[in-house]
Amino acid sequence: MGSSETKDGSLTQNSLAWSLVSGQELWQWRLDALKMATTAGVPSKEVDWLLQELAGIDPLALRLGLFKAREQIKLRYSLPVLSQLWQHRLRERCPVQYLAGVAHWRHFSLRVSSAVLIPRPETECLIDLAIETIRNIPTPELGPRQWADLGTGSGAIALGLAEAEPSAIIHAVDCSAPALAIAQQNAQKLGLAERIKFYQGFWWEPLEHLKGQLNGMVANPPYIPSGLLSQLQPEVYCHEPHLALDGGSDGLDCIRELIATSGDYLRPGGVWLIEIMAGQATAVTELLQQQGSYCQIQILPDLAGIERFAIAQRATPKALGKRAQG
Ligand code: GLN
Repeated sequence: MGSSETKDGSLTQNSLAWSLVSGQELWQWRLDALKMATTAGVPSKEVDWLLQELAGIDPLALRLGLFKAREQIKLRYSLPVLSQLWQHRLRERCPVQYLAGVAHWRHFSLRVSSAVLIPRPETECLIDLAIETIRNIPTPELGPRQWADLGTGSGAIALGLAEAEPSAIIHAVDCSAPALAIAQQNAQKLGLAERIKFYQGFWWEPLEHLKGQLNGMVANPPYIPSGLLSQLQPEVYCHEPHLALDGGSDGLDCIRELIATSGDYLRPGGVWLIEIMAGQATAVTELLQQQGSYCQIQILPDLAGIERFAIAQRATPKALGKRAQG
């Protein structure tokens, strides 16, 4: 069986054969992998996470060794290939989610590859904030709620919104074709493909035809200052797409672009909601204020209490007129 690896450590088609191993063999493999994890400073819980994904054994059975007596266990790869993957985790610091090709986010099991950022737990709150806002703001006009997810990556945010708002149409944009392919697969798998439209392009560019019609936009744009990238964990710096991380010299390049352009696409009262980095709250608030098309500007924390989200609304022309006069 071939076991050629791609850059992200995932395996090519010819190595995707399932194999059968004995419980005893897998039990020994797990013990060795745990030892190697400790030596390499990798959290040992990742061994069980990987085995859960690739062998379908639940965490308790793994911890208690309940699988040891099983005659046969169906494993996604052969044991040598599994060992090769684990080495890639330990030596190259490849994130375990890329090795398994899966990330868990909210209650979704999402396909991921090194073409997309692994969706982070803190980003889960974006969906709750969007839902809360949708519930609180009466939609200015009737009709389906149209939202945009700009820089969709794995599609996580678009999927979260589509699922939470069954009447919404989500326009999901990404400049990366491989990322869009992953997002589309996720939408298909979760049965949400009918309400998510995918577009390749930069930010609002492919949504020209929707100017003035969006009820809201959500984005987790790249916001890390270029100079800080190399200080991120090697899992992030060496394996995750810089396209999704690098926000230019002060980290605000894409945020500035989204502030400058979104006013033309949102309906009056439409919601502008993005994730930001710790320390960017003041600058983002000022940029939103200076731009002049937004009102109700707020910064909200994530579950760790870090100022993580910026939210605003497209001001109505009336409010803008008043501001201009006063
Ligand atoms: N939160 C991500 C990280 O910590 C960065 C995501 C982004 O730049 N939008 O790596």
